[in-house]
Amino acid sequence: MIVQFTKQQAWDFLVIGAGVIGVSIARELRRRYASRVLVIEKESSSGRHASGRNSGVLHAGVYYKAGTLKARMCVEGNRRMREYCRLKGIPANDYGKVIVARSAAELPALRDLYARAQTNGVHAILLDGQGLREVEPCAKTVEQALQVKDTAVVNPQRVMEALVADAVQEGVEFRFSCLYQGRDGNEAAKTSQGRVAYGHLVNCAGLFADQVAHGFGVGSCYRILPFRGQFYRLRPGSQVQVRGNIYPVPDLHNPFLGVHFTHTPEGEVTVGPSALPLLGREQYRGFAGANAQDGLAMIRYLIRLIGGNRDHFRSIAWKEIAKLSHSGFYREAEGLCVGLRKDDLLPGKEPGIRAQLVNIRTAELSNDFV
Ligand SMILES: Cc1cc2nc3c(=O)[nH]c(=O)nc-3n(C[C@H](O)[C@H](O)[C@H](O)COP(=O)(O)OP(=O)(O)OC[C@H]3O[C@@H](n4cnc5c(N)ncnc54)[C@H](O)[C@@H]3O)c2cc1C
Repeated sequence: MIVQFTKQQAWDFLVIGAGVIGVSIARELRRRYASRVLVIEKESSSGRHASGRNSGVLHAGVYYKAGTLKARMCVEGNRRMREYCRLKGIPANDYGKVIVARSAAELPALRDLYARAQTNGVHAILLDGQGLREVEPCAKTVEQALQVKDTAVVNPQRVMEALVADAVQEGVEFRFSCLYQGRDGNEAAKTSQGRVAYGHLVNCAGLFADQVAHGFGVGSCYRILPFRGQFYRLRPGSQVQVRGNIYPVPDLHNPFLGVHFTHTPEGEVTVGPSALPLLGREQYRGFAGANAQDGLAMIRYLIRLIGGNRDHFRSIAWKEIAKLSHSGFYREAEGLCVGLRKDDLLPGKEPGIRAQLVNIRTAELSNDFV
């Protein structure tokens, strides 16, 4: 990328959004070009949305097809983020994870994941039942399981705090409670704190990234649909012990990884997330945050996806609806480990909302960068 700066511009780069993507890109731009970088964020602090409300799992790179940009970035990102956390003294649970099969029908996909791991250069081992018991005594599987050693768990809030502190120290400027409201000509933005002139604009607006892009005539065939991930936590004192992470074999056509058990560095075991389609991009609780525009868009795409039953979408949708109830969620979780009782699942941390990209021409959920 060739970047040319002009002196009269107030900011060389304007970054919209102080999530993990916006803050990381802002730091890199500042380092590479010694440029003037401003990050604007509509909330009063960073990481208020997905970046501070996720499972905190540093994925190793087993899920993505070999050769995709996601596969390459996941493997490299895992290595770099683990190193970053080590340097910053951010605790991590490095025990790794196991992926278990809940039925014989899932074994081909499990072996497919093993092959992907090998091609992507990820350290993974196929275990038999005995091997699995040695690694995760409470996990259950049919015949085989996959152990992935490079998966780690960190506290996403701690990562955000460290990234923002570094960015500020390195000279990136932040304006919080500053909402991007659209273009003001070709080289300036309208914001809730006035006009901001820039040389380059970087769109890291998470759940609203499609709206920002559409304002520039970019990505008009894509739209973001929001899916809420609800968490439970394992009751302290439960007979179920989880050392690292226990994941199901996912449906490889579906971008969601399914309900899983995650042992956080703080010692809590989280169970989740679900992936409930929403009627609003920030609908964190009940119907608060639902709105007609997002709601109609979601209903329209659900009808298309369910009607066409693309990628078994109908059964995925029913499973997600079932997880709204405690017993539906329990049924999903108890397929992964031995001895889980209903009263082992207590209400968990704040939910997060995933920004899922959909191609509105084909009604396909996008699994890779576009
Ligand atoms: C439940 C859940 C679990 C997950 N678990 C994992 C996991 O274990 N591992 C993993 O790698 N990933 C996980 N993810 C995905 C991960 O959290 C996201 O990919 C990542 O946080 C996206 O970061 P972001 O910076 O793009 O978005 P965000 O964190 O959403 O940041 C975007 C920012 O832009 C701001 N913004 C939006 N519009 C405007 C505007 N108009 N003006 C100003 N500011 C604006 C928002 O307020 C927000 O702060 C999970 C996601 C969810 C929802």
